[in-house]
Amino acid sequence: MDQLKQIIRDIPDFPKKGIIFKDITTLLADAKSFHRMVDLMAHRYIGAKIDQIVGIEARGFLLGSALAYKLGTGITLVRKPGKLPFQTSSVSYDLEYGRDTLEIHKDAFNPGDRVIIADDLLATGGTMAAVVELVRNNGGVIHECAFMAELEFLQGRRKLPEGIVYSLLKF
Ligand code: IMP
Repeated sequence: MDQLKQIIRDIPDFPKKGIIFKDITTLLADAKSFHRMVDLMAHRYIGAKIDQIVGIEARGFLLGSALAYKLGTGITLVRKPGKLPFQTSSVSYDLEYGRDTLEIHKDAFNPGDRVIIADDLLATGGTMAAVVELVRNNGGVIHECAFMAELEFLQGRRKLPEGIVYSLLKF
């Protein structure tokens, strides 16, 4: 696990001054690390009854589609406004400055579908909390929210339902 953590690099002052951004592109680009990360995460869900993976734009698509392939499910996209072609449901949430919105297709789930929501990184938890609401409002039942990495000091878990949050790498 330490090897996987070490390959993620810190980018100081990105996207703005004072923030140390965890750049996971280095993990994705390294064949051994990428395969290990996907295998470890997929292994957790083998045997669980999962109907659909939900990937959050944009880096959540990468983990999401790899997990979906491994688990033999489809993948549903949660996207920024105006990107999905069919009828959508949306959720808006607060950012440090301003608000953001995410959308999902209205017919994404059959009632009671069990889903894993995938994203690259858990920071303050605002994004995932919004997607939890979006999935539940559209009839999905959340098996787990799965992250490659978590910034524990930001305590993002506090914004999320207890017992359904998993991250592979903790910083
Ligand atoms: P949160 O809503 O504060 O938890 O932020 C999580 C979202 O922002 C995720 O979709 C991440 O892709 C992105 N994010 C925030 N901080 C980082 C970082 O340090 N590295 C990579 N992605 C980040």
